[in-house]
Amino acid sequence: MSHAHGTRIQEHIGDPVSDAPPVSREKLEEIFQDIQADLRFDHELNGCLNCGICTATCPSAHYYDYSPREIVQLLWTENLEGIYDAMQEKIWACAQCYTCAARCPFGNSPGGLVMLMREVAIKHGMESARNVLRPFSRVMLKLISTGNQLSPDMINKEGFPDWGPNISKVDAPLATLRKAIPVPTLHTTKTAWEVNLKTSVELYTIWEDTGVLASLKTIDTNLHDVISDIMDEKRDDWQDFLDEQEDEDE
Ligand code: SF4
Ligand code: SF4
Repeated sequence: MSHAHGTRIQEHIGDPVSDAPPVSREKLEEIFQDIQADLRFDHELNGCLNCGICTATCPSAHYYDYSPREIVQLLWTENLEGIYDAMQEKIWACAQCYTCAARCPFGNSPGGLVMLMREVAIKHGMESARNVLRPFSRVMLKLISTGNQLSPDMINKEGFPDWGPNISKVDAPLATLRKAIPVPTLHTTKTAWEVNLKTSVELYTIWEDTGVLASLKTIDTNLHDVISDIMDEKRDDWQDFLDEQEDEDE
């Protein structure tokens, strides 16, 4: 069989029954190039036998319309439209357990490839990324502004008043269970969100320099603004502290 064009890129075939607006060839190529340009890409994709071992062992494939074999095949065959389609929903079904990576005879990491695709989905501000991450805005707020999220005993009525009466469903059995099985991390109740000012300011520099804040802005402008305000405030506090130290030294 001859390969006249010398490329594995498939022709744009479109979806005859979809109402979604068509995506330009340039955009599809840009998205794929962003995935491919990541340093991890060549490490995590080495070829594919299409054997399906990854899908057979994948927990998400049992419950969702999702197959790591399909994801790897789309990337390996450079099926640009299929890659774009998978980024609209399927890639968010992966549980990132990496069972697939442990089993693939080719040394691929479908879970790792999914992670790259998710990052690119966020970079391009895809609606799927916004939808998936929206319920986690509280987690992101705490994670980015304090550097950690929460300790188990923070899941209670006082800590999460906005959960309404549903919190009792989680709170009640947890209280009983904790009495039966003491959890060492419970000791962090008072301290988990009390992060040293200098550490916070250093974290903010990391979030900025690594592009985390820029990504957040792409998918949730409001949350980005709230976090930016917190960062400005803490940076001012840190500067005040340094100024006071300087005054005391003089
Ligand atoms: S286990 Fe590896 S070689 Fe087999 S289908 Fe999955 S990615 Fe391809
Ligand atoms: S990392 Fe994702 S794709 Fe791989 S086995 Fe786990 S859920 Fe499936």
